[in-house]
Amino acid sequence: MLSISSKEEYWLERAAEGNLTLNESKSLSEELSLFSMGRIANRLTSVQAGNVVTYAVSYNINYSNYCAASCPICAFYVPIKLKGRTDRGYELTIDSIRSELEKARNEHATEIHIVGGFNPDLPMEYYEDVFRTVKEKLPDVTLKALTIPEIDFIARVTGNSIREVVERMKASGVDAHTGGGAEIFNEKVRKQITTKEKISGEKWLEDAKLIHSLGLPGNSTITYGHVEGWDDILDHMIRLRNNQIEQPGFLSFIPLKFSLENTPLEKMGKVRRPSDGAKDLKVIAMARLIMGSAIRNISVYWVGMGKLIAQEALNYGGNDLVGTAFSEKIYKATNRQEITTTEELSYLVREIGRIPAERDTFYNIIGYT
Ligand code: SF4
Repeated sequence: MLSISSKEEYWLERAAEGNLTLNESKSLSEELSLFSMGRIANRLTSVQAGNVVTYAVSYNINYSNYCAASCPICAFYVPIKLKGRTDRGYELTIDSIRSELEKARNEHATEIHIVGGFNPDLPMEYYEDVFRTVKEKLPDVTLKALTIPEIDFIARVTGNSIREVVERMKASGVDAHTGGGAEIFNEKVRKQITTKEKISGEKWLEDAKLIHSLGLPGNSTITYGHVEGWDDILDHMIRLRNNQIEQPGFLSFIPLKFSLENTPLEKMGKVRRPSDGAKDLKVIAMARLIMGSAIRNISVYWVGMGKLIAQEALNYGGNDLVGTAFSEKIYKATNRQEITTTEELSYLVREIGRIPAERDTFYNIIGYT
């Protein structure tokens, strides 16, 4: 391994202590080049996560695209007020869920990932039926379902408390939440990319603590590359890390690169191009340096970044490739047509001298590949 400079050494030691402040994070990212940032993030990764890069064999099911939120950041939703007046919207029946599960079985999925729009017409019983159907048909899979804002929305529209929704999710087979919907916590930015139906950043963090305290762990995310500033990204990471220290429950951190095609933000001309590869790598490196001591798994989502940048990001602090994401539809709505196989993910990892492994939802290794 190449020796590192005294400046790199200083920041590596500070990052390893696990409590970088916002000001320090800003200074670090100003003082170090992208290459230096990646180099110390890579060192920290080998200490915190070793040489293995994991992924899950996951199959995505999106139960409905009708949504009461209409976020400017999203290309997936159909406004709920158009229900009955468009053929673009859908709600999957339990029979359709069963046929999706058959496809998941054929793909040898070990994890089912379920999210959808904020659909006020679906009762709590619908979700319970969906979750029970998953576990009846595929008893050996783990079920990761609903983002934190979805859980909050379902609680509000079904007249349940968040505690009740979580208890009912667990009782019907849900093993983890998906961690999505965090977007960016800074309220000024959040207001430009979501609408009032989606909870505030503060509420997201509060809900996460409650959900984790009730025994339902899950991932954490950020959506970057739209109208945010660099400081908003650093602030988001620090708030997530501190939340995890107060109430553990995040299994990983997954930065989601904003994909603009077909989104209202693109149509309004507010975002004209996606973030470049250098920013993608910088986000992963800072995630490792700010959060790695509290959230060991820094995940690189190849669907958003593209496979080549994703592979490089594994040298910049990443230790996980999320999963195969079979049947993914959210990025697909923005014309990203990325697909993969387990063989390809293993190859991407082996090619950079790391060890690929299939994992379960809880980041336990199922087998080396
Ligand atoms: S991001 Fe989620 S909540 Fe917002 S419009 Fe899309 S599906 Fe609805």
